[in-house]
Amino acid sequence: MSTTKIRTRYAPSPTGKMHVGNLRSALYEFLIAKHEDGVFMLRIEDTDQERFVEGATEIIYRTLELTGLKHDEGPDKDGGYGPYVQSERMKTGIYMKYAKELIEKGEAYYCFCDKERLESLKTQVDEDGKTVTMYDKHCLSLSKEEVEANLAAGKPFVIRQNIPNEGSTTFHDELYGDITVDNVEMDDMILIKTDGYPTYNFANVVDDHTMNITHVVRGNEYLSSSPKYQRLYDAFGWESPVYVHLPLITDENHKKLSKRSGHSSFEDLIEQGFIAEAVVNYIALLGWSPEDNREIFTLDELIRDFDYHRISKSPAVFDMGKLRWMNGEYIKAMDFEPFYERALPYIREVITAPLDLKHIAETVKSRIETFADIPEMIDFFQAVPDDYDTEMYTHKKMKTDAATSLKVLTDTLPILEEQSDYSNDALYQTLSAYVEREGVKTGYVMWPLRTALSGKAVTPAGATEIMEVIGKEETLKRIRAAIEKLS
Ligand code: GLU
Repeated sequence: MSTTKIRTRYAPSPTGKMHVGNLRSALYEFLIAKHEDGVFMLRIEDTDQERFVEGATEIIYRTLELTGLKHDEGPDKDGGYGPYVQSERMKTGIYMKYAKELIEKGEAYYCFCDKERLESLKTQVDEDGKTVTMYDKHCLSLSKEEVEANLAAGKPFVIRQNIPNEGSTTFHDELYGDITVDNVEMDDMILIKTDGYPTYNFANVVDDHTMNITHVVRGNEYLSSSPKYQRLYDAFGWESPVYVHLPLITDENHKKLSKRSGHSSFEDLIEQGFIAEAVVNYIALLGWSPEDNREIFTLDELIRDFDYHRISKSPAVFDMGKLRWMNGEYIKAMDFEPFYERALPYIREVITAPLDLKHIAETVKSRIETFADIPEMIDFFQAVPDDYDTEMYTHKKMKTDAATSLKVLTDTLPILEEQSDYSNDALYQTLSAYVEREGVKTGYVMWPLRTALSGKAVTPAGATEIMEVIGKEETLKRIRAAIEKLS
């Protein structure tokens, strides 16, 4: 066994939100490192200047912070392998230096072909009807003198990888095993672009090697390019890292997660009232499973139990219902104060009356799955909707209907007018006495009262608890209004 310290990296491109797939890669990289007491590094891959989005780097930092995936090294934490931002690495000349080394070895070459010429190569069509542009190695035949003359004349150029037209290349992935591709299938990909920036394809190899990365976890969209990367490692005589390419995450309809489905990014989920710990827990299970059937894991437990050999190759289905359930479990387990702090804006969305907001928060804590469930669940504390259906008074099991309800409300109104103690317990006692006198079931009385007080069939609190929250005056007002509605 090697004694090398595990070093993993999360290498996002600052192109917008943090997608669930990216977060999963980050999480698995983090877990692999932390499981072995290794180093988890952040590298910003900003070489594609056209895709750069203002503010996206901040989102990356914020997400890592919120999810608890603390990096040990990164642009803000020097660990001796910097710079940690690719555009800054470029300025050190590192990519050009290695590209030139490849040219020396015959593994790469300058290409001066212009757009028009490249366009004219687009003649091949693959089975999906898409044009395949395979570069025809035109510039490989330029003599050293021709190349030098072009460079001296300041002709724009790219540097391409030189992949032979015969033989094959094999590359190993921990999940997918050995993958062999015929070299003729592989395009001479660009390593250095006209603007001098390296492509991802080149930079990922140079950086992973020079930053001593031991394990790379990334989406399997990179699987098909990996043989080309392997050729680069081999050309340099470098040992490649352990690769773990992760299966696609799909929605319930087995389609790729999309923005429209609302669960494509971490920010979307947080905005929808999910909590970071639950999202992390859920995402850990998108492709990985522990030896037992446990589902709820703290980050520390994940660090302890995570084993990348147990990642599955089959596509992971993002099940919103499951995440909602898990989030509900996390909310139940939260301490009240932090729960209340997070719930407050959602409560304030619908409650402006001077009510005991803490009490209202208590009523929903064990009932919601996401914080966004709160407003709809509690809006009746603010006001009863005028137009609720009186059909709601009819409840088979409670043996109630509009007529019995009218009687109960009319009977209990003076009792509730008399009552001065509007605590839940006192109200319950008083109403229980009425239940007993009448010789009816509790629900026969409480159902109509709760309907009158809420205009809803489902509430997070029973009739007397609602009375306690809204107080005497409002209680009586609502019951009188219900009597009028039923009369
Ligand atoms: N910058 C790449 C991305 O965000 C990183 C892929 C990788 O992890 O190598 O997709």
